[in-house]
Order: sequence, then C-alpha cells, then structure tokens
Amino acid sequence: MKILSVNSGSSSLKVSLYEMDNQTLIINVIFERIGLDNTFYTINYNNEKTKKERLFKNHEEAIQIFLEELINLEVIKNLNEIKGIGHRVVHGADKYKISTKIDDDVIIDIETFSHLAPLHNPPNLVGIRAFKKLLPDTLSVAVFDTSFHQTMNNDAYIYPVPYEWYSKYGVRKYGFHGISHHYISERISEILNNKDLKVISCHLGNGGSITAIKNGKCIDTSLGFTPISGIMMGTRCGDIDVSIIPYMMKQTNNTIVEIMNQLNKNSGLLGVSGISNDLREIEAGIKKKNERCILAKQLYINKILMYISYYNTILGGTDVIVFTAGVGENSSLIRGEVMNQLQSLGVEIDQKNNEVRGKEAKITTDASKISCYIIPTNEELMIAKEVLRFIE
Ligand code: ADP
Repeated sequence: MKILSVNSGSSSLKVSLYEMDNQTLIINVIFERIGLDNTFYTINYNNEKTKKERLFKNHEEAIQIFLEELINLEVIKNLNEIKGIGHRVVHGADKYKISTKIDDDVIIDIETFSHLAPLHNPPNLVGIRAFKKLLPDTLSVAVFDTSFHQTMNNDAYIYPVPYEWYSKYGVRKYGFHGISHHYISERISEILNNKDLKVISCHLGNGGSITAIKNGKCIDTSLGFTPISGIMMGTRCGDIDVSIIPYMMKQTNNTIVEIMNQLNKNSGLLGVSGISNDLREIEAGIKKKNERCILAKQLYINKILMYISYYNTILGGTDVIVFTAGVGENSSLIRGEVMNQLQSLGVEIDQKNNEVRGKEAKITTDASKISCYIIPTNEELMIAKEVLRFIE
C-alpha cells in the first residue's frame, strides 16, 4: 500500500512516497524557494539525486509537478494507487492527543492553534489545502508534533506561574519533536523486542529536545510552551532566568521582539562560541583550542546531562538512552562526553562503536547498566505509519 508523507514549510515542501508493505521509501522530492525566484526541486529516486530547475509559483503548483513526476517516472500508473496522505502539523494544542483524519473542523482547529505556532501551522495548512484540492478523494491525516507529549501528567506540563495563565490562556508545556521521539520509542522497542522500556530519547539537531518515555508513553520532555526552552540548542538559548529579558531590554534599549530574536536566533552554540550554530564548526574550533568553542560545547553537555539525570530519576532508572538527529547521529564527541559523564549511573561506553555515524548502533558494552544507541530518526516514515494505522 502506497502512502505519502508531507512536510510543508513556508518556502519548502518535502514529499515522500512509501511502500508500507515493507515500510520502504520509494521516492522523495524536495521543492525549495517556493514563493521566491529560481525555484528548483530535487528528486531522490532509485539511489539517484536529480536537481531540476523549473518555475512553480506556489505549493499547489509544486504538488502538481510532484504528481506528474510520479506518473512520468512510472512510480505509479494511476494517482488512486496513493491510499493516504499524512501531513506533519506542528501544533495540535491539547486537543489532538493522536493523529486525526483531516476534515473542515480539523482545518479550523489547525488555523486556530496558529497563534501557538505562527511560523509553522500556517504553512502546514497551505500544504493540506493544496493536496485537498488536487487529490480531494484521498484520505488525509494530520500527524501532530505535539501529540506524543499529550500523555504527560499535569505535574510535568504545568508551569509554576499563576494557574489562570494555564486555565484562561493555555500557557503550559506542549513539547515538540514528538513525531521523532515517537519514532525512536517504537524503533528501540522493535530492536530490543520489548515494549516495556524506560527510554531517554535525545533529539539533538539544530533544535533539540530530550524526552523521558515509559512503556512507549511520554512522561516529560524538555521543550515547552514554545521550542525555546529546555537544553541549549544551535541558536536558541534553552532554559534561562526570565528576568534577563526585561534587564536586557533596558540595557540595550531594545524591544521585546528584538530581545526574543536574540534568544531564538543568536544564542545557544552560536551565541556562546561567537562562531557558529553548527557543531562541526564548534568541533573544528575546539581542535584549535578556541576557548569560546570549548565553553559552548561544555555548556551544551551540561544541559543535556541535567535533563538526562532528572529523567533518569523520575523514570526510576533507565533502560536505554537513544541519540538521534544531526548531532546525536553524527557527533561521537558529544555522545562520548555525555556517556563518560554518566559513568556513575553505570554507563560503559563502547569506544569503537561510538565512532559510528548516521546508522543504527549500540554504543555501550554488554556490561553497561544503561544501553545507549544511535538511531537515525525518520519522521517521514513515522507520519506514513500513522496514516497506515488509521487505514487499518
Ligand atoms: P534540524 O534541527 O534543523 O532538523 P538536524 O537534525 O539536521 O537539524 O541537525 C543539524 C545539525 O547537526 C548541524 O547544525 C550540526 O550541528 C549537526 N551535525 C551534522 N553533521 C554533523 C557531524 N558530522 N558532526 C557533528 N555535528 C553534525
């Protein structure tokens, strides 16, 4: 059975077609610069990458091209071979605890929740509407980045602020990267053939979050009301003392918007190192003994350790720690230092396996009390799996 997985951003559109009988990716197409000039798209098919420059004015025209390519490349003979479409939607607030079939009411809800995710929900909706227009009879399902975290108890999601902020205004921890953490939770259960696991999932990319998972359910997660909290990230600050905000507004005569911009776009690894948000460049700086790069890396590790240690406590011990996303999948330095600092919990690193990059591997010894794994995340497949679940 063939299912589409869609991630629609403001200027990009990623579409992947899966054969769900064996859960394999058939074709993936990425459209870029939508709404700008020099639009192009890249097709990944049969282990070949092809870049094509062609004008598409909007998401709908991009999808039209995608459907044409499917027929031209003989990936499918007829569009009705596509049995379902899964759309990544960033924010489902506390209403959508699981993925849902998209109808007019769901569209209104996604629009309503746009005030919680103004940069993401609107472009997600553009993709949904365009596919509805072009494939009106195909089942379409919204898969929310927030849903996986809806199993948190209120002592995890309520902030210690006036309770009315929550009850009147919806101020609470929602969490993000839920599709990725959900994938990691299912994949580690498959690998170990055990659903009753206590897992700490570390999604370390440019954005980053750590999630505590017990028996497949999220107990707590580090991102909160918005994706600025929790661990330090590429350009975002993570948890800081909120009084810094009015203080810096006064000191610099900047508006709240400007200060928030600094905290979102000019903080984290970039802010501390003064060099880059990309860990590869920080690692290069460390090799040259750049002190700010060394400090940035140490802060990053400290914040990761804070969350792992706390989650280990509330889980009542940990069976597995999983590293995923750009940094988690590729940086043996960060994984190695985190694991070394967890020796007191009985983590025993397998140095050779920790050198693995971008593929599944167990990176602790058999004697280690907590097993650590690298698992490349696969949000596209997780979205397709959610649609399949719906069909079944
Ligand atoms: P996003 O949050 O944008 O989805 P990714 O999960 O793609 O981010 O992660 C991107 C980050 O992964 C880069 O900014 C870089 O810091 C890190 N990264 C990628 N490859 C490597 C590598 N080989 N070594 C260290 N870090 C890497």
